[in-house]
Amino acid sequence: MGKLDGRVVIVTGAARGQGEQETRLFAEEGAKVVVADVLDDQGEALAKELGALYAHLDVSREDDWRAAVAAAKGAYGRIDGLVNNAGILRFNKLVNTPLEEFQQVVQVNQVGVFLGIKTVAPEIAEAGGGTIVNTASYTGVTGMAYVGAYSATKHAIVGLTRVAALELAGKGIRVNAVCPGAIDTAMTNPAQLDPNADPVKAAEGLDAYYRKLVPLGRVGKPEEVARLALFLTCDDSSYITGQPFVIDGGWLAGVSAL
Ligand code: NAD
Repeated sequence: MGKLDGRVVIVTGAARGQGEQETRLFAEEGAKVVVADVLDDQGEALAKELGALYAHLDVSREDDWRAAVAAAKGAYGRIDGLVNNAGILRFNKLVNTPLEEFQQVVQVNQVGVFLGIKTVAPEIAEAGGGTIVNTASYTGVTGMAYVGAYSATKHAIVGLTRVAALELAGKGIRVNAVCPGAIDTAMTNPAQLDPNADPVKAAEGLDAYYRKLVPLGRVGKPEEVARLALFLTCDDSSYITGQPFVIDGGWLAGVSAL
């Protein structure tokens, strides 16, 4: 028996990183996963490997959401879960951030989550209830200099999560957020995307950097975030809704006096 047997779940930004690991774990647990991303080659390859459905979905485009929902319903007849995982990061001082850059981050991270809830929640309600997991961040519950646009959107996602939980509880839909700290994906470790770099060595460098900041002394693994997303998507979390869950190796717990 899998924890998600018979459930149909859309995962956005599923072609790589945390979304890929969520897709793999959910499929292992019996879910029919809709692999949604803008990285068509990687997404299609993953879907093929898992016998899943791939949908090209730019989360900032309402038409793409409608098409992905239609494809999911065409293939599986229902939708009972959504993981809003897609996101982008840009580094800049607030006063140096071009308006277009700020708006681009809002469009993907914040509008993308809004459109996901708006488009998919009615389908989940029609299926008799289910779950939505939004990917916020450590920077959604505290500040971080030089990622102002990103942090603003991740705070917004925590707010959207709370409001959606309140509005959708009556439809049997639970809505929670994951708030990862530093996780070893291409977003934090761009060496993963550089054919001339050594991503393992780069990850060791990240560990050394985060050892000073993170009590558990290392960056997190995308598989660890996937296990939290699974918990919030399956019945193990049946009485939990409207909450942000920090998964950060203790980073947010505080600072050391020595
Ligand atoms: P990643 O860059 O490997 O994955 C992001 C995925 O989102 C990619 O597959 C990308 O193609 C997809 N994506 C980007 N724009 C999209 C769009 N408009 N429509 C659809 N898909 C799009 O990084 P990741 O770490 O796996 O990121 C997953 C989520 O976790 C993001 O929301 C990110 O902000 C969040 N997060 C990451 C970290 C970290 O340290 N890696 C920490 C906290 C939160």
